[in-house]
Amino acid sequence: MLLFWFRRDLRLHDNAGLYHALETGKQVLPIFIFDTEILDKLSNRRDARVDFIYQSITNLKKQLEKEGSTLLVRYGKPTEVIKELLLEYEVEGIYTNRDYEPYARERDEEVKALLKEPSLDFIRFKDSVIFERSEILSLSGTPYKVYTPYKKTWKKAFKEKMAAPFPSEQHHDKLLSHHKTPLPTLQQMGFEPADIPTPDPNLAEEVLHRYEDTRNLPALDATTRLSPHLRFGTVSVREAVLLALQHSDTWLQELIWREFFMQLLFHFPTSAQESFAPKFRHIAWRNNEENFQRWCEGKTGFPLVDAGMRELNSTGFMHNRVRMVVASFLVKDLLIDWRWGEAYFAEKLLDYEQASNVGNWQWAAGTGADAQPYFRIFNPDNQVKKFDKAHTYIRRWVPEFGTSAYPEPMVVHSMARDRAIAAYKKAIALA
Ligand code: FAD
Repeated sequence: MLLFWFRRDLRLHDNAGLYHALETGKQVLPIFIFDTEILDKLSNRRDARVDFIYQSITNLKKQLEKEGSTLLVRYGKPTEVIKELLLEYEVEGIYTNRDYEPYARERDEEVKALLKEPSLDFIRFKDSVIFERSEILSLSGTPYKVYTPYKKTWKKAFKEKMAAPFPSEQHHDKLLSHHKTPLPTLQQMGFEPADIPTPDPNLAEEVLHRYEDTRNLPALDATTRLSPHLRFGTVSVREAVLLALQHSDTWLQELIWREFFMQLLFHFPTSAQESFAPKFRHIAWRNNEENFQRWCEGKTGFPLVDAGMRELNSTGFMHNRVRMVVASFLVKDLLIDWRWGEAYFAEKLLDYEQASNVGNWQWAAGTGADAQPYFRIFNPDNQVKKFDKAHTYIRRWVPEFGTSAYPEPMVVHSMARDRAIAAYKKAIALA
């Protein structure tokens, strides 16, 4: 009998690893582990991600029970849980889908070592991306550090059959017949339901058709909200890429950004902790705690920044254009280390994806592999004029905007801009 271990692929349909496990013809018992190594580090006991995973697991379990099987859900450190399962069941091997984050890779190495002794298979599949690890390399055989040539090679290498679904649902007869198993409650794991719902993705044709024209306007609900679903695998990336091919090349390019950042973090895992470009590793950040707090709370006196931070704090989402504006403001106008902002987003974002978050923060800070030049600094007022001229988005999140209750700008942008450029130049000179 095989175990199929669900992680960031919480769906039964078009699931590569599950399909391959079922296709062996052996009986397959699906499992999910609430990983205490991750959960114990979360400070918010009403974490919307935990809630979303919990709901997705509950759905999966129901679907599997309809098939006469179950989803075995455990809570603990994965290696410990797996040791217990090896004692409880006659396990011949574990199948799962690959996860490229540094922590996940370490965890999987531990699991692999654990299974080595009894000589059990630990087989991992590509599922969350079209191209992984070293599948897209430059002509000299090295990983791409710049997006545009990566994208070109990605598109050249792509064949439509690569996005064909894995028909896992055709082999459900191979799911192990099992009595229903208990699901630990959120409370047993020390969590409470969150008040933030995860919106369903909006993949309607009209959204994709007008995407290119409207994607930068935060007042319109004009992007797909697919990100948390790709993060947890409730939607398959293959399905998304096929839709993109039919309806919007601009949107396809966003999906390629996601894969670009994934391969970047895979090849350069230390970029999660330090600036990709060595010359920016010693910027003299101001790191003023009070300034940081005002940014977190959306009380900077810059309305687009404040609207974005308030949207994030109350919904777990922020529009991409506004993410760029708030990130630039924190790093350049306040001269606060991008890692502080990255960590705050990591705590709050429903779609938190380490590769995309680190990659985009480093892009905004100008310290990344393919970043905007450090001296190109967003002017937060011009961003309002370009992208929220009628203040519709701003008023939605900052009702006191335009009244005496709204704070004065906390810095003078032109001064802050010069100060940032000087700090970056100094770091380059010292490098
Ligand atoms: P759409 O515009 O409909 O795009 C479709 C999909 O393409 C997204 O769901 C996402 O998977 C991918 N995508 C789009 N833009 C990007 C991008 N710039 N980089 C990588 N992938 C992208 N995205 C995350 O998924 N997780 C994060 O933790 C994250 N952190 C970010 C931090 C900063 C500072 C910035 C500037 C961007 C960040 N992004 C992150 C990228 C982007 O903002 C979100 O993916 C997007 O806003 C999600 O909304 P959507 O699903 O409606 O996107």
